Amino acid sequence: MNKIKLIIFLIFLALTASSKDIRVGLFGSTTQTKADVFYKVGRYEFYSESKNFTIISRRGDKISFVARGNKVNAYLNGLKVGENIWFRLNKRSDKNSLEVSNGTKKKEVMGNLVIYSINGKLKIVNEISIDSYVEGVIKGEAGYGYSLEYYKVQAVISRTYALHHQKHKGEGFELCDHTHCQVYDGINTKEEIKLAVIATSEEVLVDSSMNFINTLFHSNCGGQTVTTDMVWSKRLACMESISDTFCTHSSQANWKKTISKSSWIRFLSQETKKTSSYLSSINLDFNQTQRKEFYSVGSAKVRLTKIRKNFRLKSTFFSVHIVGDKVVFIGKGYGHGVGLCQEGGIVMAKTHNYQEVLYHYYKDVSIMSISKVEYYRLF
Ligand SMILES: [Zn+2]
Ligand SMILES: [Zn+2]
Repeated sequence: MNKIKLIIFLIFLALTASSKDIRVGLFGSTTQTKADVFYKVGRYEFYSESKNFTIISRRGDKISFVARGNKVNAYLNGLKVGENIWFRLNKRSDKNSLEVSNGTKKKEVMGNLVIYSINGKLKIVNEISIDSYVEGVIKGEAGYGYSLEYYKVQAVISRTYALHHQKHKGEGFELCDHTHCQVYDGINTKEEIKLAVIATSEEVLVDSSMNFINTLFHSNCGGQTVTTDMVWSKRLACMESISDTFCTHSSQANWKKTISKSSWIRFLSQETKKTSSYLSSINLDFNQTQRKEFYSVGSAKVRLTKIRKNFRLKSTFFSVHIVGDKVVFIGKGYGHGVGLCQEGGIVMAKTHNYQEVLYHYYKDVSIMSISKVEYYRLF
């Protein structure tokens, strides 16, 4: 019975999702069984499906939640309030914040909280406006110390990413707060980030069919970005290979790694099924001035992504030089190389506006407000 009620509740949550609000599962993949919520700012209405109580809580109050099967026990300042399928804390003032702790981690958030349990695992869901969420993501993903214009780039990307990737829909929320989705660090107090989110409010990147694009990004492209099929199996639109002069003097622009020639030959032999004596007899040097998909020498050929993974290289944009009994990789960039090059974007945003930066790294896209996208989708 409890399970059916819980499923009905999760379906209800999915149906009431709005593209301007977002539900974030706090503490990502951690499987907490209890949580404490402390009131920090503003007033909240605290209630559950039993409707037999509504408590307006204030600063200093503490509510504890403990999972029990598909139900939750709640305690207000140590006194039991009830055992229910779900509990809600809805904000009753514009300025509001709560501190949530699962015993090992804590996070301060704005907006509402929904608490329920699936098979004894407590779900703590933060319901907030997409723009407040984007502020928390910029704080978590980009950090502090960038220009206002670059924060605007990051704001449009994070907002679009959130609407494109809704990986947790069946669990009652759209995104988790970990790297699995986007790192969401809760309430933001940095003025520059706030201004960037307000200046780009509601703006997202869409393709010509009005789909939110998959705004992939990486640290540094080394001077040339790549198409998705060079990294994964599928070719995605809007991610073309472009040459990038903005990142070539940044911190991750160049790298070098040395390994032994014997381990290189062992690896090549495994991957290509060529004998060690054949591989020792040919020239193993390899040059990459423009990005390639394969390391190709003699009749041996290996996908660059495989080499990167095996030797934990910073990128697939490298040349190979044999020096005595060593192999030296001389590389450029850091990351998969698809979409926005962050270090390039940071430099470009010093002399260009955020729209120019976005149109430089993503192709055949438009910057549009969510309301406008919804309007066009009606036709
Ligand atoms: Zn996730
Ligand atoms: Zn770049």
